[in-house]
Amino acid sequence: MKKPATVPSARSSDKAWERLNREIVACQNCPRLLAHCRQIASEKRAAYLDECYWGQPVPNFGQPHVPLLIVGLAPGAHGANRTGRMFTGDRSGLWLYRALHHAGFASQPSYERADDGQRLIDCAITAVCHCAPPGNRPTGEEIDNCVEFFARSWELADPRIVVALGKIAWDQTFRFAKSRGWWSGKTPRFAHAAEVALSEQTVLLGSYHPSQQNTFTGKLTEKMLDSVFRRARALCG
Ligand code: SF4
Repeated sequence: MKKPATVPSARSSDKAWERLNREIVACQNCPRLLAHCRQIASEKRAAYLDECYWGQPVPNFGQPHVPLLIVGLAPGAHGANRTGRMFTGDRSGLWLYRALHHAGFASQPSYERADDGQRLIDCAITAVCHCAPPGNRPTGEEIDNCVEFFARSWELADPRIVVALGKIAWDQTFRFAKSRGWWSGKTPRFAHAAEVALSEQTVLLGSYHPSQQNTFTGKLTEKMLDSVFRRARALCG
């Protein structure tokens, strides 16, 4: 049977995803963030002095048309801003890829290098902001600047399940849902393991962000993060 014209073929959505990622990497919309990314890349951390930092916007990781879309906040200064791959190269990545691997969403738990052969399974990773912000806090204007990429990433991923890592990702997800007319009224309170039917097709799960601020303090444990992705796996069916 012929597909409706609105459903892109796998091939065309792959191309659109690649084009989107190229546009993200080339984006110049936030001078403060771009200057910060470059500054971090030139100063470097002592442990990475012999490495060539990525130092520019970080593209989405994974493929379009997946059941699960993971929404992070922004690249880590010495993590994704160094390696060029989402959640790769820092402790947040250690926690995230380990949990993804446990739940069958990543081929391996590795998180340190972008050339490790890591393969996402049934999921993609995007972010509210694709550039590392000073103090891990993008401004409202910078989040607005990146919203088009957020919307296009969502549309191409076309997820049934979304995991929002942290309150900013949670709020941005509701903002997007409201813009699409899927949600009206107040944004539900963000909580770890919160679950909301965002639309008839999409379930949103909240998770504390696996930042050191949360993992070092015990606010987020390995078991807690695993439980969110195990729930996402169960929802995949
Ligand atoms: S945060 Fe987003 S909009 Fe701003 S420069 Fe980076 S990619 Fe562009």
